[in-house]
Amino acid sequence: MHAFKRNEIVLFTRKKEEKMDWIQSWKDTLFLLLDDVPVSLREVVASVAIDGTSATTIIIDSRSEEPLSRAFLYNESCPDALPLVKSIAPAKHTVCSGSSTLCKLVSWWNSYPSSKESAVLLHQADWLLWLLHGKLGVSDYNNALKVGYDPQMDSYPPWLLSQPYSHLLPSVQDPGTKIGCMKEDIRTQFGYPKDCLICTGTTDSIAAFLAARATQPGKAVTSLGSTLAIKLLSSRRVEDARFGVYSHRLDDKWLVGGASNTGGAVLRHLFTDEQLEKLSEQINPFEISPLDYYPLQAVGERFPVADPKMEPRLHPRPESDVEYLHGILESIARIEAKGYKLLKDLGATPVEEVITSGGGSKNQKWIKIRERVLGLPVCKADQTEAAYGAALLAMKGACENATFD
Ligand code: ADP
Repeated sequence: MHAFKRNEIVLFTRKKEEKMDWIQSWKDTLFLLLDDVPVSLREVVASVAIDGTSATTIIIDSRSEEPLSRAFLYNESCPDALPLVKSIAPAKHTVCSGSSTLCKLVSWWNSYPSSKESAVLLHQADWLLWLLHGKLGVSDYNNALKVGYDPQMDSYPPWLLSQPYSHLLPSVQDPGTKIGCMKEDIRTQFGYPKDCLICTGTTDSIAAFLAARATQPGKAVTSLGSTLAIKLLSSRRVEDARFGVYSHRLDDKWLVGGASNTGGAVLRHLFTDEQLEKLSEQINPFEISPLDYYPLQAVGERFPVADPKMEPRLHPRPESDVEYLHGILESIARIEAKGYKLLKDLGATPVEEVITSGGGSKNQKWIKIRERVLGLPVCKADQTEAAYGAALLAMKGACENATFD
């Protein structure tokens, strides 16, 4: 098993100047990674899966196998396509956002001047996997969500299939499904085994969730990085566009997520990581802080409160930095608790245990504060790299009938 790390792509591409050829740089990085696996391990690699950034989109010509456009990056917005997408999709559908894969597809379709008959849409992970297995036009139901795939029906919906560009849509498999063996020229070039399988992948954030191995409904992962993101495994699918809450399918369960604008970025603005460590040592996590903040970097919050005009609240600031930090950590913990309560109110399985990842998860005092505020056990994830989650999918593909459990 080997997986593809997004951070490595970023490091690599930064070396390039001005006009970035993302597609070429991702391909180069994939081959660097294949070459990076120690030679002695290559011959025992059973399978490969890749996670990619959700909604990063590439359109390929199936005849020449060349890209028909530059890559559309995950955060790129195509507002020109939004009115049309809104006119065909159900209200509040996840594709009704300028950065959705479907908006990117429609924007390309309406502006590309030449023949489009042999065009195929791929997500970043699909495209990289295709380089390895050679079967064009295969995706997974996590990556395909933002182009409009319905994971509950396990098909593209009729409103999408009736569009003139529907022939571009890739076929969709469960994440971690074997697609084929590694192409002969690649495996012989690098020394991978003849039966090395290439499996469908997933998105970065789902791979990071899989890495934490929260496999039962009620288990959740809170990522405390620059922002606070929560993901809960639920028996029921939950969606609410007002709060940016939507569900990804994971086998027969649903991964419900929401992301607040609060998080570590505010802390970084106030304290260095060393200060955070030193000050945290002096906090008594069993004591309730009387300070009530709403730490935000800028105006506006989406989850668990949808209020684009919400002002950051970080005052009054006490003289003691220990008390100040205690107040901020406890306030962020309250936002986390409110997030899980909102998911429950929207119909998700109630949270029973929180596994935590990201820069804030190393703070043991914060974990204790969060256990008190959430009223739940909180533990640090053993594995947090998305690449580890992708490797679990590769293992699933190699072991028939295995599930995410
Ligand atoms: P991202 O990948 O989203 O940029 P990371 O997962 O690397 O973020 O986490 C970085 C964040 O973790 C920073 O905002 C920093 O303030 C916070 N952080 C680092 N050390 C601590 C600590 N001991 N306690 C709480 N937060 C911390």
